[in-house]
Amino acid sequence: SAPLVIIGAGQAAAQAVTSLKAEGYGKPIIVIGDEPYLPYQRPPLSKAYLGGEMAEDRLELKAPAFYAEAGAEIRLSTRAARIFPAGREVELSDGSRLTYGALLIATGTRARALPVPGADLPGVFSIRSIDDVKHFRAAAQPGARMVIIGGGYIGLETAAKAKTLGLDVTVVEGAPRLLARVACATISDFARDLHEAHGVIVRTGIGVARILGTDAVTGVELADGRILKADLVLSAVGAVPNAEIAADAGLALENGIRVDAATRTSAPNIYAAGDVASFPSRLYGRRIRLESVQNAIDQAKAAAKIISGNYVVYDPIPWFWSDQYDVKLQIAGLLDGHDRTECEGDIAAARFCVRYFAGERLVAVASVNDPKSHMLARKALATPPPVPVPG
Ligand code: FAD
Repeated sequence: SAPLVIIGAGQAAAQAVTSLKAEGYGKPIIVIGDEPYLPYQRPPLSKAYLGGEMAEDRLELKAPAFYAEAGAEIRLSTRAARIFPAGREVELSDGSRLTYGALLIATGTRARALPVPGADLPGVFSIRSIDDVKHFRAAAQPGARMVIIGGGYIGLETAAKAKTLGLDVTVVEGAPRLLARVACATISDFARDLHEAHGVIVRTGIGVARILGTDAVTGVELADGRILKADLVLSAVGAVPNAEIAADAGLALENGIRVDAATRTSAPNIYAAGDVASFPSRLYGRRIRLESVQNAIDQAKAAAKIISGNYVVYDPIPWFWSDQYDVKLQIAGLLDGHDRTECEGDIAAARFCVRYFAGERLVAVASVNDPKSHMLARKALATPPPVPVPG
């Protein structure tokens, strides 16, 4: 019978194969991945692997033998070019076509292009793949001046590792504070103090006008005309979903590929999971798209169940972590609609948590070196609110 084809060989794909095996899925599975590597974990790319403390083979999510045992064939360095939903076919970059019984799109995201002149100069990097880190490491000599554009998780994690690699680091963030999209001012201020204490220069509330240089980067011109000299620039300004292949096939999009609570796209027998998919959250009363390991794993698990014929609803409590120096930041929940925060613990000792409330309802908890609060938060958030008793 026609195989399940998975497009993208990343975190969600590896989990889907694992869960399909556990579900006893009997049909062949073919995974198409455009990178030359078996599915690997990305979080260490801006953490231990970037710092040279973790070997490349430890990034692999599963040992190479696992896939064949699970009945999955993996085709690497191969791109899925087009989907033909009517004929249930996928065209690959070599021009060949595969007929699928079911299709799972798990193409993830790519680094957002920096929208300024000079962004394509040699010496401007982004970090999304193993190859990106290899290129960056080859250029990151001790003493080099590095400007990081973007004060989100990836920018800040890279700043921390770049410091330990001996680089001279400046972070430029257009928003008035670091981590502005994902955390409150208490966490932002803590992050700024942490990085400044490690010798990182932090510039917030200022945009970048252009990257300077003719054959290679020489500096970054800020919106106020000031120039930061630079040998290296890291662009860390967010990610965009790899949803073009779905758009070209006529699938509905809405901030990525639109799926329902059962990971189904608008086309029959086509599913999507991971960073690329936006799904309806009953918990938050809106459609959300998450870029996290939690979501890639749990949504792929749900897709595997559904493809195997066991209906489930995917409606998760999102959670995320970030490591910077010796600090572990963990966030459970989303900050949606919060109007009040409560802080507990010792900020100066780098061990505290911030609880976010919308009225009386707890919506999220950010913990710094406080794994216990994080675990309790995930439990508390998973507990449904008491049903109001009618008048
Ligand atoms: P991916 O793992 O990105 O896999 C998608 C794969 O599909 C890629 O290999 C891509 O090249 C391939 N592909 C795309 N289009 C095609 C095509 N047409 N044909 C074939 N292949 C294709 N999350 C956390 O929870 N905690 C962290 O600390 C954390 N740190 C991170 C640090 C970095 C540097 C990065 C980049 C991400 C981090 N994340 C973290 C996010 C996490 O890695 C992602 O959410 C997760 O990898 C998403 O899994 P995915 O399977 O959807 O996509």
